[in-house]
Amino acid sequence: MKQNKLLYLMIAGIVLGIFSGWMFGSAMLSVGWIGEMFLDALKMLVVPLIISSMIVGIAGLGDIRKVGTTGFIALVYFITTTCIAVVIGLVMVNIIEPGIAVKMTVEQIPAKVIGKESIGVTDIFKSFISPNLVRSMADMEILSLIVFSLVFGGILTTLGEPGKRVIDFFDTVNASIMKIVHLLMYFAPLGVFALIASKLGAAGGGDLFLAELAKIGKYVVTVVSALLIHGLVVLPTILYVITRRNPVIYFKNVIAALTTAFSTASSSATLPVTIECAEENNRISRKSSLFVLPLGATVNMDGTALYEAVAALFIAQMLGIELGLGEQMIVFLTATLAAIGAAGIPEAGLVTMVMVLQSVGLPLEGIGMLLSVDWFLDRCRTTVNVWGDSIGAGVLDNLEKSR
Ligand code: ASP
Repeated sequence: MKQNKLLYLMIAGIVLGIFSGWMFGSAMLSVGWIGEMFLDALKMLVVPLIISSMIVGIAGLGDIRKVGTTGFIALVYFITTTCIAVVIGLVMVNIIEPGIAVKMTVEQIPAKVIGKESIGVTDIFKSFISPNLVRSMADMEILSLIVFSLVFGGILTTLGEPGKRVIDFFDTVNASIMKIVHLLMYFAPLGVFALIASKLGAAGGGDLFLAELAKIGKYVVTVVSALLIHGLVVLPTILYVITRRNPVIYFKNVIAALTTAFSTASSSATLPVTIECAEENNRISRKSSLFVLPLGATVNMDGTALYEAVAALFIAQMLGIELGLGEQMIVFLTATLAAIGAAGIPEAGLVTMVMVLQSVGLPLEGIGMLLSVDWFLDRCRTTVNVWGDSIGAGVLDNLEKSR
């Protein structure tokens, strides 16, 4: 499909989805199955795509020193942008103070986080290694799949001709999966429409959403405006300064990925589309995109980090608890880690938020206050997560080429 045509159709899908979900409410649940089919088709591609991408990506980087430098640059980009995002979140929540004068009405720990109270930093490290690869594939535990594929691909490069044959095999697997992604894009506008319309329908349509907004609207405004500052000012500036590429054109080229992120609320499910946009539209070299994007979809979550920081301070403000500079530093650190540890799936950020709240002694019941609007904010932060990954691919590709 022509890129411009797809772009307009994707935007039309989102707009129509919002309109129909808003107006017709629960009646739109009837199109939910179409959205689920689209989402399932994306998810179906994720595991083979991640494994083959990482193997081909690491093999494409050549010798181990180059892998080290590229990995280091990617890491610096991920950490720097995530930290900037958290700082923006903290500044905005301190300025707007959305939790002051809001009464905390939820008294129970939400089901979503029950049993997760003991999640800590060491659990994030533990999730790097899988005791059972088949189960990790079934459960889409991507971080451990990435670690395995990186090691596996790295070893293949040391095995000479036989190793090369296996790399070629995965190269072909990767190319064929990307062809399927290409085909799937024909259905994307419809899929995006159905996902949004049915989700808004399930949330009770426009009236109920507005009622929820009336309660904690200031909090929503804080998160969204901080996300906008990061997504529309900070990230494009980084792109322009490092690559001299026009951020508006770059943005236009990844709209299909951003709209998919908004409608699926999952960086992982969006990954096939993110790679497609990077390579086909933004002309990012295959070796950069295959290396950076799967990693980014899993560990680089600017939107989630920003969100966790704002949410923690919002809860503190509701309870009348003053968090001093030292405690806000702790929030800064744990929100960054929590975002790295969050899986690229819907509402994963809510679960890792346990770590942030516990680090400064805030009650987990506070998460209950966020649930009613989280389905919406999850979409917004996932879009920023994917945008951050896409720019990361551009930055790394540029630095790679100039080396
Ligand atoms: N849904 C987000 C993502 O997939 C993670 C989160 O913040 O919940 O990027």
